[in-house]
Amino acid sequence: MQFSGAGCVRVSTRAKINLTLDIIGRRADGYHDIDSIMQSIELGDELLLRDCGSMTGAADGSRRPSVELIATGYNVPADDANLAVRAAQLVLRTCGLDRALEIRLHKRLPVAAGLAGGSSDAAGVISGLNTLYSLGFTQADMEALGHTLGSDVPFCIRCGTARAEGAGERLTQLPFLSDVWVIVMTPPVMVSTAELYRTYDSWPASDIRRPDTGAMETYIRQGDIAGVASALGNVFYPIVSSLHPIVEEMVRFLLREGATGAMMSGSGPSVFGLVPNEGSVREICHRAMRTFDGCFVAVTRTADRMLVDVEGRQKERY
Ligand code: ATP
Repeated sequence: MQFSGAGCVRVSTRAKINLTLDIIGRRADGYHDIDSIMQSIELGDELLLRDCGSMTGAADGSRRPSVELIATGYNVPADDANLAVRAAQLVLRTCGLDRALEIRLHKRLPVAAGLAGGSSDAAGVISGLNTLYSLGFTQADMEALGHTLGSDVPFCIRCGTARAEGAGERLTQLPFLSDVWVIVMTPPVMVSTAELYRTYDSWPASDIRRPDTGAMETYIRQGDIAGVASALGNVFYPIVSSLHPIVEEMVRFLLREGATGAMMSGSGPSVFGLVPNEGSVREICHRAMRTFDGCFVAVTRTADRMLVDVEGRQKERY
C-alpha cells in the first residue's frame, strides 16, 4: 500500500443539525427508520493526525497498527471507545497499514448533544487518513467504511445539505443551503437516545407532531430560506421538552429574539436558531449567554465540507 510518508494532517470537522427529523417505522431488528434533512455547520472539533512511523520491528514483535489519542477540551474516552480511534483502526486495518498514528483531538463540541460529535470525528479521521496516506478512497468508499461505525458517519463525510433515510445512511444530496447563520445552544442536561426511542414507542400517537420533510426538501430546492425556517421540525422535540423544559425555553427564546426558525437537533438536547444576518446573530448570542448562564452557546454558519489541511502543502477541501 502506498502512503505519503511521515507527515501531519489537520482536519476541522463539521457538526450537523437536523432541519427535520421524523421516525417513519420500526424495523424487525428494533432499530428505527428515520426521514431527516441534515445540515452541516462550520462548528466542529479539531483533529491533528500524525504518522509516527512503521510498527514493523516494534519491541513486542507485533506488526499491528497502533493508534494513540490525546484529547483536550470536552471530556471524551481516550481509548478504543472513542469513535476517532475506532475510525483510525478501521482504516489502517482495511488498508493493511502497520503504522503508528497519533491523533490529537480538540473537542469543541459538547458531547452527547445531538450534534453528531463522535460521528463527525470518525468522518474527519477517515478523510484525514485518506489524505495522509494517499489512500485513493473515493467519497463512496469513505461513506461505506464510515457506515460500519455509525449511521451518521456517511453524512458527516459528505457534508452539506442532504435527506437521510433508512437508519440515516441512505443519503440524497440536496442543494447546499449556503450562507445561513446559525446559533447553537446546548443546555447541561442528559438525554439518553435509547430511552428516547423507547419513550417515543410508548408516546400517544395523537401527541406526536411530525415535520413535513417533503415540504422542507421543496423549500431547500427552491432556495426559500423563509420556507426552510417555517418548516423546521423534530418528532422528538415534545418528548425532550417535557423531560427538560429548558429545551423549549431555549427554542422560544431564539424565536423571541429574532431567529426566523428554531428547533431541537437530533435527539437533543441542543437547539438551534436560523438568523438572517451576522449583526443580529451576534447580539442574540450575547443575550443567550447572559440568559442561559452555564450553557454552551455558539454562532456558526452552514458548511458544505470539512477542511483537510496538509502541513507544508496547500489546503485541500473534501
Ligand atoms: P448523534 O447526534 O449522532 O446522536 P451526539 O452528538 O448526540 O451524536 P456524541 O457527541 O457523538 O453524541 O456522543 C455520543 C457518545 O459517544 C458519548 O457517550 C461519547 O462518550 C461517545 N463518544 C465516542 N467517541 C466520541 C467522540 N470522538 N466525540 C464525542 N463522543 C464520543
